[in-house]
Amino acid sequence: MSETTMEKIVSLCKRRGFIFPSSEIYGGLASTWDYGPLGVELKRNVKNAWWKAVVHGREDMEGLDAAILMHPETWKASGHVDGFSDALVDCKNCKKRFRVDHLPGEGNIRTCPGCKKEIDLTANPPRAFNLMLKTYLGPIEDDGAITYLRPETAQGIFVNFTNVLDARHRKLPFGIAQIGKSFRNEITPGNFTFRTREFEQMEIEYFVTPESAGEWYERWVAERFAWYVRLGIRADSLRQRQHAADELAHYAKGCTDIEYLFPFGWSELEGIANRGDFDLAQHAQRSGKDLTYFDQPANRRFLPYVIEPSGGVDRATLAFLVDAYREEEVKGATRVVLGLNKELAPFKIAVLPLLKNRPDIVELARKITGGLKKKFVVKYDDTAAIGKLYRRQDEIGTLYCVTVDVQSLEDHKVTVRDRDTMQQDRIDLEALEDYLTTKLT
Ligand SMILES: [Zn+2]
Repeated sequence: MSETTMEKIVSLCKRRGFIFPSSEIYGGLASTWDYGPLGVELKRNVKNAWWKAVVHGREDMEGLDAAILMHPETWKASGHVDGFSDALVDCKNCKKRFRVDHLPGEGNIRTCPGCKKEIDLTANPPRAFNLMLKTYLGPIEDDGAITYLRPETAQGIFVNFTNVLDARHRKLPFGIAQIGKSFRNEITPGNFTFRTREFEQMEIEYFVTPESAGEWYERWVAERFAWYVRLGIRADSLRQRQHAADELAHYAKGCTDIEYLFPFGWSELEGIANRGDFDLAQHAQRSGKDLTYFDQPANRRFLPYVIEPSGGVDRATLAFLVDAYREEEVKGATRVVLGLNKELAPFKIAVLPLLKNRPDIVELARKITGGLKKKFVVKYDDTAAIGKLYRRQDEIGTLYCVTVDVQSLEDHKVTVRDRDTMQQDRIDLEALEDYLTTKLT
């Protein structure tokens, strides 16, 4: 079996309509990508699977969709205005810009990753660079109008903590989940959709008593790891990496990354952090609002601790794509298959007429498509010969191909082909929906 490379993934994504370079007709925009017809379905399925698992599937969770634009004080409270910056240095030789913590070398003498020349940090002092994307609200571009595109969805949850608590009559423990776009002016974006300046997050803030935070942290690490495995990622391509004490933010009590083995190495899909009461305390202080929780049975008032599982939608989508990609030898030819989990595959079923110049066959195939559409995501396709159509459907991960042939007109049976086994079953039209329902649910 040949190796899965990023070149193969990027090529498949372009060829089959998963992901295109943004503004491609103008030469593209660095590290910015558009999800095409297949990509939008896959990404939506990833988000739906997450929402189903963490909101609809639980009794202790609520959903939220907060605005991208927030009061600028939010980012002072969260520490993003002062702390969310990287030290950058420009190589005087090759003019490339790097994060200081990405430069090989020790102390003040480093090596440029671009041209390999020496960079002396005393002669070339690093400059702070804020990662937030700044914009102006309203028609006048003065300091009073400055606001930011959110660098994380989490703060929208924290500022709504008491709103959700009151509106939903919640008791601890409970959590709030949100999916949405965030923006960071990354210095070194790259690795396809892995690190981009515009990205989508799926974040949970789970509010607990200080005493139970350690236990909930462990539970969420296990829960989130299991989610990726359940949706088809091979467990040996996934690992948990606990942050060392010197990696943790000063307020954090613990943090574990869930990492996936991409072709470019182990990289973070999601981080689960025990953030203590840092965020609510910061917002309470800056806003002057009481964000404490009153525990009636215990008759005590306190700031809840929070466990934060924070995942990237684009990263998860990329991991599912990479992990599902495989090449097989079939009768001397190479078959490319996206073995996506049935919950994630963009299209569940394709209906294919064996002969597209036979109106009676086309009519029956269209009728079958219409019937199945009420229950599944189904595509009719007659744009090529059957062999080519199978190949295309395999490459986009379609689970079942239903083929209508001349015989179907007489015996009212169709051929159903399984993506993974390529086994073909002849199924009565009357029984087709039940057959597919059993397979797909
Ligand atoms: Zn250089």
